[in-house]
Amino acid sequence: MIYKSTRGACAAEDTAAVLQGLAPDGGLYIDPLLASRPFDWRACLRQRPLDMAERILTHLLPGFGDMGELVRRAYAGKFETEELTPLVPVGDEYVLELFRGPTSAFKDVALSMLPQLVTAARAREGVTDRILILTATSGDTGKAALEGFHDVEGTGIIVFYPDGGVSPVQRAQMVTQEGRNVKVCAVRGNFDDCQRGVKEAFAAISAGGQLEGKGVRLSSANSINIGRLAPQVVYYFIAYARLVDLGRIRPGDPVDFSVPTGNFGDILAGYFAKLMGLPVGRLICASNANRVLTDFLNTGVYDRRRPFVRTSSPSMDILVSSNLERLLYLASEGDSALVRELMDRLSGEGVYTLPAEPLARIRSVFSGFCCGEAETEAAIARVWRERGYLCDTHTAVAFSAAWAYEKQAGSGAPLVVLSTASPYKFPGTVLKALGGDTAGDEFRQMETLSQLTGVPIPKGLRGLREKPPLHSDVIDREEILPYVLRQIESEV
Ligand SMILES: *Cc1c(COP(=O)(O)O)cnc(C)c1O
Repeated sequence: MIYKSTRGACAAEDTAAVLQGLAPDGGLYIDPLLASRPFDWRACLRQRPLDMAERILTHLLPGFGDMGELVRRAYAGKFETEELTPLVPVGDEYVLELFRGPTSAFKDVALSMLPQLVTAARAREGVTDRILILTATSGDTGKAALEGFHDVEGTGIIVFYPDGGVSPVQRAQMVTQEGRNVKVCAVRGNFDDCQRGVKEAFAAISAGGQLEGKGVRLSSANSINIGRLAPQVVYYFIAYARLVDLGRIRPGDPVDFSVPTGNFGDILAGYFAKLMGLPVGRLICASNANRVLTDFLNTGVYDRRRPFVRTSSPSMDILVSSNLERLLYLASEGDSALVRELMDRLSGEGVYTLPAEPLARIRSVFSGFCCGEAETEAAIARVWRERGYLCDTHTAVAFSAAWAYEKQAGSGAPLVVLSTASPYKFPGTVLKALGGDTAGDEFRQMETLSQLTGVPIPKGLRGLREKPPLHSDVIDREEILPYVLRQIESEV
């Protein structure tokens, strides 16, 4: 069994880990031997992106059989370019565009692959039950998950979003979703209400045996699933290989990455790439005004007892970054007792302090920087005016962090800024930053932005306003459980 729980009480084959998501002891699955299992990273550099993905994912998830077939089903023809995640020189830095997938969100990279992994795991584990995915979303995850799971044999998906709590574009993306096995439902309340309701329904159904004999089991598509993390390792290799192709580096030279961070999945994938041998230099953890990770990296104290700030980069508005638990495990050399203690403290008191040794290990690779709202807008304007590149709010935070790092320490290595969303997902803030006219709704703002900059609107977002809505359910949080049970009866 190559996967172990960070909290020490369970182990699982990779296929079982993907079906379970969270380990039964509450921990996250991790491969403790990732750094010591031999991997020929240099061979990857000469491969095309899909073949590279096959090689990397076979290494991370060896129990899945024909990974090449799964990779092709997930990605072939679904992304805007064959490179999957293009690398664009922008001034002195490089931007790795992770948003060229079907929903113009970086979540597409992982959520295109996850359904293929779930289906294959189901077959390998001899599971005949249908897998029903329940997801609460604050925006991008819902649409990317719908796009990934729709019409995938043996699966169904229900997405809950806060009524009035997602942007008009995000809402339109979700409620126009087609597919036999999909359902989208608004929940009265904010995202936390919505997420709590889904968790409660999940727990009630698992405890109550309500699925007995129904041929269905529940799963989630959230970012603690190892099947979501593994596909993200690939684009670090794609970026590195591209820099070699461009003659900017020779294989073996270090490359730094600045990563807009929320739940710590994206940046942790970069650390996995490093453990597999890729010469990743520094990983810059970029945060917005919710700077809990910046403080943690600077002091070793993780303290979620602070006001939650709503920012223009909402996918990073997070105070508990779940995937950090995996890094704590690796940095403490597999000390699951310590991880358990720290996680108990976090959920109990809301704060913990990491001992000096693991902290030093983390700080030898990771640096944390944050920026506020004004700096985010200033970065959007500067990247556009000085370099002619249009970036979204999350990417702007990563640019800002990259500059702060270069000013403070800078290694001189090439620096890649990970770009996690199309600027057209956040047209209001981007227009404002450029001093454009923000009149009208988001659809109008998209057009204004495109006229102002000449940058085309992504295909999936362009025709959205004209698409007919197919989902109109709105319920209270308490109704989530009966709603899910009804959908199971009617076989979503
Ligand atoms: C999810 C998301 C992030 C944060 O990624 P994590 O893996 O949660 O750190 C950043 N930007 C955008 C646009 C996202 O959707």
